[in-house]
Amino acid sequence: GKILSTKNGKISPSITLAITAKAKKMKADGIDIVSFGAGEPDFNTPKFIREAAIDAMEKGLTGYTPASGLLDLKNAICEKFKRDNNLDYKAENIVVSSGAKHSLFNALQAICNPGDEIIVPVPFWVSYPELVKLADATPVLVQTTEENSFKYTREELLDSINENTKAIILNSPNNPTGSVYTKEELEEIAKIAIDNDIYVISDEIYEKLMYDGEHVSIASLNEEIKDLTIVINGMSKAYAMTGWRIGYMAAKKEIISIINNVQSHATSNPNTMAQYGSIAALRGDEGPIRDMVCAFDERRKFMVDRINSIENLSCGTPKGAFYVMINISKLRGKTFDGYKIEGSMDFANYLLDKAKVAVIPGVAFGADNYIRLSYATSLDNIKEGLNRIEGAIK
Ligand code: PLP
Repeated sequence: GKILSTKNGKISPSITLAITAKAKKMKADGIDIVSFGAGEPDFNTPKFIREAAIDAMEKGLTGYTPASGLLDLKNAICEKFKRDNNLDYKAENIVVSSGAKHSLFNALQAICNPGDEIIVPVPFWVSYPELVKLADATPVLVQTTEENSFKYTREELLDSINENTKAIILNSPNNPTGSVYTKEELEEIAKIAIDNDIYVISDEIYEKLMYDGEHVSIASLNEEIKDLTIVINGMSKAYAMTGWRIGYMAAKKEIISIINNVQSHATSNPNTMAQYGSIAALRGDEGPIRDMVCAFDERRKFMVDRINSIENLSCGTPKGAFYVMINISKLRGKTFDGYKIEGSMDFANYLLDKAKVAVIPGVAFGADNYIRLSYATSLDNIKEGLNRIEGAIK
């Protein structure tokens, strides 16, 4: 047949999904695997949210909604922005999509032209570079350092900006590093964006999962940066609603209007019942979130102490999200049980095959000296898994 899409043929498969699929298969075959791969809370969606969606279904609210989402949901999102982020948006500044990943896809589709460069931090969430390529733009990978808690420095940003730079992707709290930018650091980035007339795509999906310090939305700093910022957020992580597929974005009207049109042809509205559940979530009791954050925090502290007690491994203390990046550079070149460790993929494969522990190799995030462990799993699993890892590298 004729040649298939060259652009889409170059999109890489997700390494994260590949290793979690292998672990799942081993589990299904009856092997006792401890998995640190999870990218989703190990909690059920709170009951009042589930009930709101059931209620919508029972009332027959099961048809199409406006393509960009229910007005009432947009209003609930605006209330959330005001309450949590001190941001004033109107419903016309909001688009609701099928998950924050879809919102990111849309945001890039709205602003990119061929030749545009989008700044992506390394380590990066696996989808950023691919989403940029899908929008015909070029990801410019900016290496951050563990010494600076994996956050952009002023110099790193300035060095990577040129006249083709269209936007900076900012993800705080961060996946995979758990880093959180302070208000002062955001002010510096905002100034660079304003001086160079660059958009900021601010992925704030882990906003509610914070343990030290406070989350600040860069858009809230001043009107100029608000105008340049596309805020991305969603229901998945904060409300344990990953499968519901509801994300949203806020931006100036010109951007929103492009996305409204694109989304109206590509997907139409996100799932209707999930939108009703989301209204309840955003206006509801945050008690269940606080309980979840408490559980994550306890695991986080245990995990950081335990990892740093293991010879040849080390990690910093994440301030948000539910991931720890372990530095494995001291293991490079060593051989365990016939497995030579040249990089994070070798180590992840060794741990899975021999210790029956699933972790994500840092190479998936462009950081081959690290592995990522999620603490969205029980304390018992965490204890057992880390005992196994320690045993495997003795
Ligand atoms: N952004 C980051 C940094 C993430 O880690 C994820 C999920 O893993 C998403 C966005 C997408 O979330 P969803 O599409 O489930 O709303």
